[in-house]
Amino acid sequence: METQNKDLKYWRSRRATLEIEGRAFIDGTYREAQSHHTFDCISPIDGTLLARIAACGEADVNDAVCAARRAFDSNGWAGLNPRARKAIMLRWAALIREHADELALLETLDAGKPIADTTTVDVPGAAYCIEWFAEAIDKVCGEVAPADQHLVGLVTREPIGVVAAVVPWNFPLLMAAWKFAPALAAGNSVVLKPSEKSPLTAIRVARLALEAGIPPGVFNVLPGGGETGKGLALHRDVDCIAFTGSTPVGKLITQYAGESNLKRVWLELGGKSPNIVLPDCADLERAAKTAASAIFYNMGEMCTAGSRLLVHRNIKEAFLDKLIDATRRYVPGNPLDPATAMGAIIDQTQLDRVLGYVDTGRREARLLTGGSRAHVVDGGFYIEPTIFDTDNGNALIAREEIFGPVLSVITFDTIDEAVRIANASDYGLAAAVWTADLTTAHDVSRRLRSGTVWVNCYDEGGDMNFPFGGYRQSGNGRDKSLHALEKYTELKSTLIRLR
Ligand code: NAD
Repeated sequence: METQNKDLKYWRSRRATLEIEGRAFIDGTYREAQSHHTFDCISPIDGTLLARIAACGEADVNDAVCAARRAFDSNGWAGLNPRARKAIMLRWAALIREHADELALLETLDAGKPIADTTTVDVPGAAYCIEWFAEAIDKVCGEVAPADQHLVGLVTREPIGVVAAVVPWNFPLLMAAWKFAPALAAGNSVVLKPSEKSPLTAIRVARLALEAGIPPGVFNVLPGGGETGKGLALHRDVDCIAFTGSTPVGKLITQYAGESNLKRVWLELGGKSPNIVLPDCADLERAAKTAASAIFYNMGEMCTAGSRLLVHRNIKEAFLDKLIDATRRYVPGNPLDPATAMGAIIDQTQLDRVLGYVDTGRREARLLTGGSRAHVVDGGFYIEPTIFDTDNGNALIAREEIFGPVLSVITFDTIDEAVRIANASDYGLAAAVWTADLTTAHDVSRRLRSGTVWVNCYDEGGDMNFPFGGYRQSGNGRDKSLHALEKYTELKSTLIRLR
């Protein structure tokens, strides 16, 4: 059936017959947790129970890590010609594309994301990520370094071993793919721990990995909460942990690595990204629409969310009118309806957290629009897109990551002031500047302390070619691009003495 025919009725009927797997995937098979403990997987759409999920504990962590280690040591994956790994990973991506509807539906039910996004971004994006790293891996070469005449010096990259990937719930499959695709392409074994709030697609694609030919033990999925992640981060046979999540948990992960075996730690953490509109912006209409999507896309549950909007005083009034207009597109709706642009907040806890910030905002700033819980589907978790004028940006809501659809507007008078406010944050994930002047664009981009800078756009660059990650407390290392391979490989110098 063509995408345009897939209406709410279609997705509801698919839901009625959907089979959901909730067990862990270890060493090529689905298994209950050894304790037989489970946790409930609740849909944020309507609060109903989707499945009971294996709550993996220490014994399961150990099983998965041992399986990954055995698979790595057997050389059955790491020892393959990269061309062969590529072929298997391409088959996996093709299977994901074949099961795109099922996976998109799982993601929407599990995370409350609009089906319009899971069918166009999350699932195809994950398949593309796997394809990209598969295609890359038989093309990256080592180096022959300059050396004395009697030596040949090789510099090569080798897989690091067992990689644990611990990921969040806002793009469950996509964030996981950004880790496991380069790690697997490089020849590592992977133990993936999805968020306890959105484990379903990770569990499902594990089976597809096996079907594609990824050997048992090379790709394992361990559902569970923070304790499961902690178990991986403390495990002495994990060589590397790649984490995406909040900054406080990222700090703990670093600590666990230090307490155990100094495993490599790569962190993709939070953000409070500034989106700066200068008075010479050539297209205020487009800037306003983009500012709305920068904060309201994915319910604001975006690490890169443009949650601080810095507007020059001279254009502020005109710009805010356009922005509030653009916000009307983000009326919360049933995520299963393809017309919905704004779905449900992941769970009650996050909803309460966001509403808590809105309450704070009401006390310390001026509410421009939104600010209330929305009632879309009984039992579900929805909130209106919300904008506060915080004037100088000192308000708490303009400083802390909310991870929800709440925008803080900040006014400035000079470029220097805008840059100073933009950089006055513990985070440094992304930033944007809108200007018609090329020199200003370059100058401001250079001065912004963040891993990504967009000029006259926001959230562009869906290609895998651009490294993604943060400065300061937004993390270290980079996902995406060939640079991601650096995280999952060790650099080796081999010096060969000639006769
Ligand atoms: P979180 O830090 O609460 O959880 C992330 C993962 O860590 C989950 O799988 C969780 O179970 C696990 N975890 C929790 N406590 C742990 C512990 N003590 N030890 C090991 N693992 C533990 O984050 P979240 O609420 O799932 O996601 C939201 C956060 O993720 C936001 O801060 C957001 O900015 C960030 N994020 C960053 C990026 C990026 O690329 N920089 C992308 C998406 C999300």
